[in-house]
Amino acid sequence: MSTLLHRPLSTSFPDIPLSELEGLLASREWSTYSIGIRCRDPLQKDLFSKAVRVRIADSPLFRGKMIAFEHPDIEIILDEGAGQLTVQVLPLIITGRYTKLSRFIAQTRHYCYACKGSGRTQGRECPVCHGDKVLTKESVQELIAPFFRDAFHCDEVLFHGAGREDVDVRMLGNGRPFALTLENPLVRSVEMGSLQSAINDSLVGKVGLLDVRIGIPSDVASITRAYHTKRYRAVVFSEEIISLEKLDSFRGQKIDVLQTTPVRVEKRRVMKERPHWVILEKATKMDEHRIEIELHASAGCYIKEFISGDAGRSLPSLSEWLGIPCVCQELDVLEIVDLPQ
Ligand SMILES: [Zn+2]
Repeated sequence: MSTLLHRPLSTSFPDIPLSELEGLLASREWSTYSIGIRCRDPLQKDLFSKAVRVRIADSPLFRGKMIAFEHPDIEIILDEGAGQLTVQVLPLIITGRYTKLSRFIAQTRHYCYACKGSGRTQGRECPVCHGDKVLTKESVQELIAPFFRDAFHCDEVLFHGAGREDVDVRMLGNGRPFALTLENPLVRSVEMGSLQSAINDSLVGKVGLLDVRIGIPSDVASITRAYHTKRYRAVVFSEEIISLEKLDSFRGQKIDVLQTTPVRVEKRRVMKERPHWVILEKATKMDEHRIEIELHASAGCYIKEFISGDAGRSLPSLSEWLGIPCVCQELDVLEIVDLPQ
């Protein structure tokens, strides 16, 4: 939410300074508004509301605009108790799905953990990020944000993903749901099909967008809180010779997997044991030391750890099934499976 105006009421309540609002709102696109009147006396409140409505009905600024009780573009608040007039612009919400075709692009900007994003440690160039301050030069968020900023002339673009994949994991198929919050947009109606095509044309081989449309504020929570099972493709490597037959009895079966927080994320997350499930859908031989598998797994299941076993923190694991130590060499999300609501 962006505040355009917040000042003491200068004239007697209810003060609707139409010429000032004209200056604030005439140059931006908006079609709906709400007027909130805060008044201690309920009888007075009705009178004030009527007076304000009459003033507005006469004003060319509000001609053709609609009052909206939910998700207005502009919110005008007259607060008698606090003696304040506030004008706010509500953010515009965009929803869509993204695919990520590179193993070098993060979902969002990743600051370097070693130098905490300063680029330097102990007075020298940080050895981890080499002074870049970030761990990956590109992210889905940073690649797509400028297109929305330019199209909607907004101040800020906030990115919300339905979970995230590791940097080196590609996000394929129908993509991962995301939402954007565009703060203080001057433009609110953009032909989304052409915007999506323009983004896809310039980000070929990096990021692709699907189903981009204008949403409502509650979409952000429903997207970030949704649980999705996922289908994966992985290349599994072992220094020993892999015999595929060992997987025969597990194929196509939903198998419970108990996972403890992986070693690699231990520092960031609380240690916890979580029940998951995995269905091994396909397994094919690439060469003596490598197989390609397809898995369907529960939301939040760590796939790299399911493959390696993560020193006993994933039980069972693919390594256990094959009877030899294995690692995940390549991982792709093939599909984010939408669960029925
Ligand atoms: Zn660094």
